Amino acid sequence: MIAYQLQCRNNHAFEGWFPDSAGFDAQAADGKLVCPVCNSCKVEKAVMAPAIAGKAREQAEARAALKALRQRMLDNAEHVGGEFPEEARKIHYGEADARAIYGEASGSEVEALLDEGVPVAPVPPDPDAVN
Ligand SMILES: [Zn+2]
Repeated sequence: MIAYQLQCRNNHAFEGWFPDSAGFDAQAADGKLVCPVCNSCKVEKAVMAPAIAGKAREQAEARAALKALRQRMLDNAEHVGGEFPEEARKIHYGEADARAIYGEASGSEVEALLDEGVPVAPVPPDPDAVN
């Protein structure tokens, strides 16, 4: 016997016992699986909770790593705001002290910098500000 967490289209969760996994498929195909709460026969295997928890934890870890990376970049760089393209260019051509900077630049400004061979890269977005 095998137990499955099942879920109807109305999100009622319940457990079903079957001789084997083919038994579930056969009963589902015959429409014999019925939700005990609402009698819906649109019943599917529910997504297992441990898989959801694992994914959520992975996402939280990726988020934390991204946040830490972003913070490290910002902590070690000087904010030059809208002067960024100008300042990046000066540093590239040795007209200003070589240092890490960050600031705002439009898409075309970034393109122009890259065309000149000035190495610029986007700061990763703040994952908490996205939502
Ligand atoms: Zn139901």
